[in-house]
Amino acid sequence: MNKVALITGATRGIGKQIAITLAQNGYDIAINYRKENEELENTKKEIEKNNVKCFSVQGDVSNFEDCERFVKEIINEFGKIDVLVNNAGITRDTLLARMKKEDFDSVINTNLGGTFNVTKNVISYMMKARGGRIINISSVVGIVGNAGQTNYSASKAGIIGFTKSLAKEVASRNILVNAVAPGFIETQMTDVLKDEVKDDIAKNIPLKRMGTTQDVANVVKFLASDDSSYITGQVINVDGGMVM
Ligand code: NDP
Repeated sequence: MNKVALITGATRGIGKQIAITLAQNGYDIAINYRKENEELENTKKEIEKNNVKCFSVQGDVSNFEDCERFVKEIINEFGKIDVLVNNAGITRDTLLARMKKEDFDSVINTNLGGTFNVTKNVISYMMKARGGRIINISSVVGIVGNAGQTNYSASKAGIIGFTKSLAKEVASRNILVNAVAPGFIETQMTDVLKDEVKDDIAKNIPLKRMGTTQDVANVVKFLASDDSSYITGQVINVDGGMVM
């Protein structure tokens, strides 16, 4: 029986690559998406090419009832969730002086609230199964901060605290909880940056390039696998050496 992985926000960017990479490694995949889009069908096809099952569930991770519903849908379909990747995330960047209360709330409620909402609904199944992996996608800005991202940095720092606390709570049940902190990764989230800004960023990265979604997916694959069975409560930076 294949292991089952749930990846939130998985129809594009980092989440999509994680879903495909885990599928290539024999996991049945549950992908969560917020809005129906053409990428959903493409992602499903790419996953199914690997002779694994792909089940998609709609839901806004910032809405607790949505998460409760879609986790039940996945359990009805697959009977279990072995790996949860909390990936869905948004930015609403601006300096604090200009930041609207809604910009702060929506980022916290999606990134940190979403991580709570999905994990809270999945954890009882993992506890009953006496095992599981939870991988939370944080960010290096949750560690070092970034002007214009007080909301986003706070959400990503919050995810790190959440990860470490939960790792301590559930270690005795053989549930391992870790975070991955990407640096600058080429996706739609960073596409908004001008080319000059991207070049400047790359110059200041020791490995002299932005990361790829595959760079992040490879670390998630490792944290989901038996090769990482003595690692919990850690934050692994995938940032070309930006933060060290
Ligand atoms: P994208 O913007 O490309 O993709 C984000 C995904 O999250 C989309 O599929 C989006 O779906 C989904 N999503 C957003 N809000 C919700 C919600 N409320 N409920 C369900 N799904 C939602 O971002 P990336 O792939 O770049 O980022 C993925 C994760 O990695 C995020 O957590 C991000 O913060 C983190 N990260 C990214 C970095 C980067 O440089 N790209 C660096 C560090 C961390 P929809 O289109 O339906 O809204």
